[in-house]
Amino acid sequence: MNNPLTGPPDPRLEQLRGRLAAVQERIDNAVAAAGPAARPPRLIVVTKFHPAEDVRRLAALGVTDVGENRDQEAAQKAAQLQDLGLSWHFIGQLQSKKAKSVVKYAASVHAVDREALVSALAKAMAAESDRTGRAPLDCFIQVSLDDDAGAHRGGAAPAEVPALAEQLAGAAGLRLAGVMAVAPLGADPAAAFEKLAGISGRLTEQFPHATGISAGMSQDLEQAVRFGATHLRVGSDILGPRPALR
Ligand SMILES: *Cc1c(COP(=O)(O)O)cnc(C)c1O
Repeated sequence: MNNPLTGPPDPRLEQLRGRLAAVQERIDNAVAAAGPAARPPRLIVVTKFHPAEDVRRLAALGVTDVGENRDQEAAQKAAQLQDLGLSWHFIGQLQSKKAKSVVKYAASVHAVDREALVSALAKAMAAESDRTGRAPLDCFIQVSLDDDAGAHRGGAAPAEVPALAEQLAGAAGLRLAGVMAVAPLGADPAAAFEKLAGISGRLTEQFPHATGISAGMSQDLEQAVRFGATHLRVGSDILGPRPALR
């Protein structure tokens, strides 16, 4: 595949350029509104369900971080697009048995929510760093912000965060990056992200380097920035609607 910027006219490239610029402007405005202490978050463009060619277009437009939530799809794209030097973020629910595959391409995992997964990732990273000398895997603890446990969208209960953080901080090859959450469906995202900021504050009292807050998607990125998000995960407002589940 050629460099999209020097190839023939490509309407999809222009569409992605426009949408990416619009999202970047929303982020810039949100950072400005959050006050002089606010720092620009890292934008992770969520490319799940969209073809590798779109990821290549995004890279040509300056995107450095992409997010995926299914191992098979992510592994294939990462292998196909190795030349781009992108950082791949695994943002979805992860089965322990997939840890070995994910550590081959992912810079970070955003949905670490149980001890068995930490153990699996640590074991996989031990083998992978022996083999390749790769950098530590950034791990975000996913926190459930839903009071209704039956309806939650994954994540550990806030009370489980300290034990998971201890385990992560003590695991060779893993780096405790911070916390992650998805705003509960139907709830006020600002209230959810405020709660997440509180959980992050308590975590950094004990682990001062674990300052990451992965929060905010297409619908609620402004509220996430307002409450200190360091990483945004934005998909549909840049790539458009996702094709139906295959
Ligand atoms: C798909 C997904 C996103 C992106 O959502 P959009 O609404 O398309 O921006 C963010 N975070 C997670 C965990 C996702 O699964």
